[in-house]
Amino acid sequence: MNITIKRSRRKSVAIKIDEKGNIYFLCPNKFATKNINKILEEKKEWIQKTVNKVVEKRNKFEPYYNYNKIIFLGDSYEIKQTKNLIKIGDTTLKFRGNNIKNALKKWLIKQSVYLSERLEYLAKIYNFSYKSTTIISARKKWGSCDNYKNIRLNFRLIMLSKDCIDYVCIHELCHTQYMNHSKNFWNCVKNIMPNYKDIQNKIKENSFVLELF
Ligand SMILES: [Zn+2]
Repeated sequence: MNITIKRSRRKSVAIKIDEKGNIYFLCPNKFATKNINKILEEKKEWIQKTVNKVVEKRNKFEPYYNYNKIIFLGDSYEIKQTKNLIKIGDTTLKFRGNNIKNALKKWLIKQSVYLSERLEYLAKIYNFSYKSTTIISARKKWGSCDNYKNIRLNFRLIMLSKDCIDYVCIHELCHTQYMNHSKNFWNCVKNIMPNYKDIQNKIKENSFVLELF
């Protein structure tokens, strides 16, 4: 195991494993090396298990992490690149330089107008009112709704299938009525989307897209 030790002015000790499976040991400046070794020994099994999981996921979705493939609205596309053109299905994108990742990200953000439109449509048919929609870039959240009913949607949602997008929209719209995850809140979601638990699982299976771009 290759572990990077990072000493800093922090007060506590933590072990972090990033999305590539790199291991970091974070500790205070004067933390003794023998104590580091002791903790690492104690946590050996947990570290190995966690790294294995991360690496397994990484291998499974490798073409997406390498931007050789892209998911858009739940469908997977091979990315074909020639000179400064990228082909995604029937769409051809022109890009400058050689930053394919940036070009794809820009394209996805442009497509994510679908998210705001869908939110507006669902609000209309199910009688919700909200103040605004903003498309954001986040690593952990698909969406949020604040006390003023401003809804924020992560552009990465555009990679998920339409039922997953609808679920996140409905989830946030129900927050305009219930600012918590109470029973009433979940009833609100369930009334509109009786199979919401299946959709939640589907979203979980695709949560690796939060790490892309
Ligand atoms: Zn929520």
